[in-house]
Amino acid sequence: AEQILKRSEMMSALGELAAGIAHEIRNPLTALKGFTRLMQSENNGNANYLSIMMDEFVRIETIITELLGLSKPSMLSYEKKDIVEILEDVKMLLETQAIIKNIQIVTEFKRGIGLIKCVPNQLKQVFINILKNAIESMDNGGEVVIKAKKKNRDWIQVQIKDQGPGIPEEVLSRIGQPFFTTKEKGTGLGMMVSFKIIEDHNGRMLVDSEEGKGTVIDIMLPVIKF
Ligand code: ADP
Ligand code: MG
Repeated sequence: AEQILKRSEMMSALGELAAGIAHEIRNPLTALKGFTRLMQSENNGNANYLSIMMDEFVRIETIITELLGLSKPSMLSYEKKDIVEILEDVKMLLETQAIIKNIQIVTEFKRGIGLIKCVPNQLKQVFINILKNAIESMDNGGEVVIKAKKKNRDWIQVQIKDQGPGIPEEVLSRIGQPFFTTKEKGTGLGMMVSFKIIEDHNGRMLVDSEEGKGTVIDIMLPVIKF
């Protein structure tokens, strides 16, 4: 018999597997990091090896953290939340990273545009991933603009726009594939996890970009109706 899985079904099976593995790896990793730090503090001549080990542990940790965003929706509790509060948190979290690169995070939104049903930490992860990509793309300073508004009766729209170099077509078509990255130290997981989380929230995410024109990410999330 033929076995055909829809893309969304496949992604969800993959997501559960990845989230499971991530949980399993986190504990041994924490132990390894702890012992490495201890050895570093004892300063016994292996400083180079230890610092390489630490760098690699931190990399594994980044991958695990990004995969944890994929946790099964059934394991998570949904809340009613003002999306603007989440965006304010994320802006604060990435502000220093932006300032270092001479980038200004400009916000155009106000509280009270509507409530959405969400897992706040997961949406936070999505906006962190996107904002980080925006900041990483801009090497000459400039602005990243975050907008949020009620699009119509049903949808809230969040838009994040950067002044980076934009994305060539052959890269655009691969964004969101697991481990696809064009960065030397990238994980290629941020966008995959973001697409999955937005899908779990019954939303839509669109990447609009052209080389030389910067990148615009649009996220639509359903409004709770009373
Ligand atoms: P990573 O950031 O670890 O490379 P992501 O999944 O977050 O992985 O992004 C995948 C790729 O998509 C990036 O390597 C980059 O090529 C491209 N990309 C994503 N966002 C942007 C952006 N705002 N500007 C330019 N390129 C981007
Ligand atoms: Mg990224």
